[in-house]
Amino acid sequence: MIIPDIPTYKEILDKAFSRARKSGEKLRTLRIPRNVKYRRIEETKIQTACDVMISTLKRILDKTPIIDELPEFYQDYIDVTVGIDELKKSLGAINRAIKIISQLKREYTKRIKFSSPKEAYKLRREIYGRISSVIKEIKDDLDFLDFAKNRLKNMPTIDFDAVTVVIAGYPNVGKSTLLRKLTGANPEVAEYPFTTKGIQIGYRKIGWGKLQVVDTPGLLDRPVDKMNEIELQALVALENLADLMIFIFDPSETCGYPLEKQFALYKNLRKVFNVPIISVFNKIDLVENLKYLKKYINKVENPILVSATEGKGLKKLIAKLEELYERLERKIWKT
Ligand code: GDP
Repeated sequence: MIIPDIPTYKEILDKAFSRARKSGEKLRTLRIPRNVKYRRIEETKIQTACDVMISTLKRILDKTPIIDELPEFYQDYIDVTVGIDELKKSLGAINRAIKIISQLKREYTKRIKFSSPKEAYKLRREIYGRISSVIKEIKDDLDFLDFAKNRLKNMPTIDFDAVTVVIAGYPNVGKSTLLRKLTGANPEVAEYPFTTKGIQIGYRKIGWGKLQVVDTPGLLDRPVDKMNEIELQALVALENLADLMIFIFDPSETCGYPLEKQFALYKNLRKVFNVPIISVFNKIDLVENLKYLKKYINKVENPILVSATEGKGLKKLIAKLEELYERLERKIWKT
């Protein structure tokens, strides 16, 4: 979770004023001169109301991470999902409200010091009106933060230290089947903008480290030139994350896309992702004429014939992943 629970402006006002009333009530039994007592009551109310507002708003800022310090993938994710500028604007408005209320608290605490009970009462009414307006003015920002909180609550938990392989290929070629075979039965499924099925993340232990395997159904299965700007941004986020790619071909064409078209997508993504690719020819159990494949096998990087459902070729695929993983780990150590 990236943004904490956000109260509505009404909740903030109710909490602040009811706490203020209670702290005022407590002073009623004090045995001090009436004049002094009434002034003290109003003063306490002012301070409590301001303090509750300030601490409620501060809590929002304290519990929200600094956006610029988040990993780039998350910044892209937030931008695509709710908009970074809007988020910063709302957080900025909260920050300004804290400053204004603090300032008003100082000003009125000073002014009330030597006032009569009647003036104290007036001053308290006056500041109540002013701090209420400050809170009302950030109504839209609070609403937006609440919306953002809900949109971002299923943000995927990604390990930015792990070597990451992204899976690409047309729908129904066997991406999610292979992800499960490589990483175990239950990948994490989180929301990802523009893929209705969400992002799937699984892990595989390799030596002392782990390999993070990511599938984004609905994103890496379309030609890049057909993507709109926001999809492209999601693609860039993924590109930043990827150390490796597994591109899955379905030579049986039971996925519904001719091999020629699949190859075009491969070439397309090859240009965008500047990482090593393993080219998996899946569903090999359904293919009778392997000769037909030769033409493609010769043109792609690291081809491996696999049947994800029958487990054929998986050992070879894993060995290749481990080999590339070792190379990447060495590279990471060096930098
Ligand atoms: P995705 O859309 O790319 O994630 O594809 P899925 O993993 O959902 O697989 C689509 C269909 O192909 C499912 O019915 C799988 O059972 C089937 N499938 C996946 N791999 C193989 C394979 O190696 N052989 C056969 N015969 N079917 C497979």
